[in-house]
Amino acid sequence: MIRQIYLDNHASTKLDPRVSEAMLPYFTEYYGNASSKTHSYGWIAEEAVDNAREIIALFIGAKKNEIIFTGGATESNNLALKGLYETYKEKKNRLIISSIEHSSIYSPAMELKAKGCDVIELKVNEYGEIDLDQLKSSINDKTFLVSIIGAHNEIGTVQNLQEIGRICKEAGVLFHSDLTQLIGKIKINVNDSNIDLASFNAHKNYGPKGVGALYIRKKSPRINIVPQITGGGQESDLRAGSLNVPAIAGFGKCIEISGNEMETDMARISALRDKLYHGISSNIPYVELNSKQEHRLGNNLNISFKDIPARELISKLNGVAVSTGAACFSGKQEPSRTLLNLGIDKTRASSAVRFGLGRFNSPEEIDKAVEIISEAVNKIRSESQILKMENI
Ligand SMILES: *Cc1c(COP(=O)(O)O)cnc(C)c1O
Repeated sequence: MIRQIYLDNHASTKLDPRVSEAMLPYFTEYYGNASSKTHSYGWIAEEAVDNAREIIALFIGAKKNEIIFTGGATESNNLALKGLYETYKEKKNRLIISSIEHSSIYSPAMELKAKGCDVIELKVNEYGEIDLDQLKSSINDKTFLVSIIGAHNEIGTVQNLQEIGRICKEAGVLFHSDLTQLIGKIKINVNDSNIDLASFNAHKNYGPKGVGALYIRKKSPRINIVPQITGGGQESDLRAGSLNVPAIAGFGKCIEISGNEMETDMARISALRDKLYHGISSNIPYVELNSKQEHRLGNNLNISFKDIPARELISKLNGVAVSTGAACFSGKQEPSRTLLNLGIDKTRASSAVRFGLGRFNSPEEIDKAVEIISEAVNKIRSESQILKMENI
C-alpha cells in the first residue's frame, strides 16, 4: 500500500498505540468470558469491562450502570430507536429527527416509518443547524423521542445540545443524540444537556472497530427499552452476547486518553485544520466552504472545488486519503443528502470533499496535502479549459 496522508478521520481513526497495548493482554492472556463466574479468567475479564464502563460513564457524566456495550454506534442507534418505538408504540408514535442524520439513524427511522411510526424530519439552515422553533412546534403528546446528531460526520456542525435538551425536558420528551463524532473532541455532560440516551463508539476516537456504547438514563426518567438482540442476558438484558473484552478494554483506554488530552489535542488539530483551509483557499481559486467555520468540529473541513466533480479530484489526489462524505454513503453515486438539505445545489454538492483531521497528522503533512490538492485542481481545471477552447 502507498503511504497516503490520512485525512479521513471522520470515517475511522488510527488505533492509538497506547490503546492496542491496553487491548493485547485480553487476546493473549486474559481470554476468559466476562460472564464466567467460576474462575479468574472470567473475573479478570469482568474487571476489565467494569473498569472501561466506569471510565466511559465518568467521561460523559453518567453512572456505570447507564452504559450498555454494543457492537458499534450503528447498533446503539438501532437499539435506541427501535427499542424505544417498541416500548411506546401503543401510546406514542412520533419520532423527531433532523434531516441530516447519519444513515444509522436515518435507515432505522425509515424502517419504523414503514411500520407506522410518524417520523418528522426537522429542516436545517445553511450551516446544518436545526430550527429550535420547529423542534418545539413538532413535539406533541404522541412524541416518544427526539433524536438529533450531536456533531456531524460530513460538515462538522455541532448542534446546540443544551438548548435541545432543555426543550425536550420541558416538553417531557426523551432526547437521544448520536455523539459518535463529538466524543473525544468536545466536552459533553449528559446531565447538563439533558440527554437521556446517547450513542458513540471507539473507532472514531483512536480506539478499535466493532465496539460501541449506548448511554441510557436510569433515573428521572427511568427508561424502558426493548432489547433487539436477546440471548444470555448480558448488559442488563439489553444486549445479549459475550462481551468483546479486548475491544471494550481498548474503548476504555481511548476514552481515558481523551479525558487527559482532549483539549490540547483539539487545539493542535484545529490549528492544522485552519492551516489546511488557509492553504487551500489561498492557493486555489473558486473554493467554497460548506457549513461554516464556527460551531463546528475542530477537525472538520468540507470544501467544494467549483466545477470539479469530487470523485474525479479524489481519484487524482495521489498521496492524500480523503472522501466525498460519509463512508457508508460514498459508494453511492448521488451527492450527499446532507449537503442537499443545507440548500446546496447538486453541482456544488457533487464537488464537495470532506477532510477529517486527526491526532496523528503533522504540519508537514498538511503542507504536502495543500501542494498535492493544488496541483490536482489546477491540472483538472486547465485540462477542462483546453477542452472548452477546442469546442469553440
Ligand atoms: C461512524 C458513525 C456511526 C457508525 O458507527 P459504527 O461504530 O461504525 O457503527 C454512527 N454515527 C455517526 C455520526 C458516525 O460518524
